Amino acid sequence: MKKVAVIGGGITGLSTAYYLHKIIQERKLAADIVLIEADERLGGKIHTVKRDGFIMEVGADSLVARKRNVDPLIDELGLREEVVYNATGKSYLHTDGKLKLIPEEAVFGIPLSLQALAESELVSAEGKVEALKDFYTTNETFTKNDSIGLFLEAFLGKELVEKQIAPVLSGVYSGKLNELTIASTLPYLLDYKNQYGSIMKGLAENRQTFKSQGEKKFLSFAGGTSVIIERMEQALSDIEWMKGCKVSHVIRDGEQYTLNLEDGRSLVADSVVLSVPHQAAQSMLANESLNEDFAELIGSSLISVYMGFDVSDELLPENGTGFIVADSSGLKCQASTWTSRKWTHTSTNHQLLVRLFYKSSGPHYERLQGLSEEEMLQEAMSDLQQSIGQLPQPTTYAITRWTDSMPNYHLRHHEVVQSLERKVAQQYPDLFLAGCSYYGVGIPDCIANGEATAARVAELL
Ligand code: FAD
Repeated sequence: MKKVAVIGGGITGLSTAYYLHKIIQERKLAADIVLIEADERLGGKIHTVKRDGFIMEVGADSLVARKRNVDPLIDELGLREEVVYNATGKSYLHTDGKLKLIPEEAVFGIPLSLQALAESELVSAEGKVEALKDFYTTNETFTKNDSIGLFLEAFLGKELVEKQIAPVLSGVYSGKLNELTIASTLPYLLDYKNQYGSIMKGLAENRQTFKSQGEKKFLSFAGGTSVIIERMEQALSDIEWMKGCKVSHVIRDGEQYTLNLEDGRSLVADSVVLSVPHQAAQSMLANESLNEDFAELIGSSLISVYMGFDVSDELLPENGTGFIVADSSGLKCQASTWTSRKWTHTSTNHQLLVRLFYKSSGPHYERLQGLSEEEMLQEAMSDLQQSIGQLPQPTTYAITRWTDSMPNYHLRHHEVVQSLERKVAQQYPDLFLAGCSYYGVGIPDCIANGEATAARVAELL
């Protein structure tokens, strides 16, 4: 009987175990799975906290609905009836001390028509004129490996990018736009520029693609995102679970691996999946020759603050679902979701629930990092009152610090991952790196990566 150790019980590790378990059963393979998780709680960056009538997703809050690979899993786990979608509404930008509407006829802040450009409250007349060059310049130099920030600026102008597009995109991608590739962000924008001669025209011609899923862009579950984790655990009731067990070292030992646990115990496995953040994988392998590559994988940080109030969310701007903060705003957060509006299942009786995001890319992060919970709550209250008005003290709150936990896929990311893969394949046969540090941060990407990793492990059984 072969033993496969999956280390890390986030969505990637659970997906790996789930799909591997299926293959083992279908092919009647002689193999056992053990899933080892450092925490007592499974789920990693998926973590639903239910308190005082509110559902707070202190990590990931939803899945992009257009990624269809998750559909079969939702059905297999019996979760179809539980699926909920985001309510749609208007998004705002907080700039110069006020909330201003982000043009509705825009995708990622990029206008879809001349009218949408002309009507924008966010850009000056000069900025609008500059953006027109998108219609009469051609792309001669940019490829998908170039920077998305420079690409957008070259054709849409600096002001439109800085004041309208970058703030929207920064809510989607962590990291500076100039340091992210077109390939890892919005590759089709380059295709549009080349095919239609204009980014705006290409987006307008393809507007159906962005509207095709209706307004249901994101999905979650009535009981919270952690439901997917709970159902996977139930589906894997006959594998071996080791929760609250931190792996300190993974050592190649003849044809097998010895896994040393922090509590002094150890176990032996034939195959190992390291579905842990790259910092943990680096420390477990403690291998000089991998350190240079691991050091190039960069993660940014975030403080998430939820606050729930004993007041109705009717006080929010009509139809609004939240705002993004421009550099000139005066607030310390970078974005805020009006959660009880956007996700109605998160609050009973429409009581106000909001979430504020403080990113390490923000100018105040270093100071905020050192604050106590109480001080952080005060900062968040001040941001909230400056943006939506006077409020009573919250009846509940949740502050979560995600330090170095949000991978940034910079320009060399793909190359670094390939280099790591080569070295790991040479030095650690039957061991696989998996997860958001390398193969995509979205939950659907992690599930796809788990499925692919399971197939690779199964080939060895
Ligand atoms: P993780 O969730 O990090 O799991 C790794 C696991 O390994 C953890 O449980 C950890 O405890 C365990 N571990 C670490 N070291 C050891 C060790 N030594 N021994 C044993 N176990 C160990 N994605 C979306 O699609 N939609 C969103 O809305 C969204 N929002 C996000 C918001 C935040 C604040 C964050 C941080 C991420 C968000 N993401 C979102 C990204 C997504 O949540 C993650 O990319 C994904 O959950 C990562 O899963 P993973 O299994 O690869 O890693």
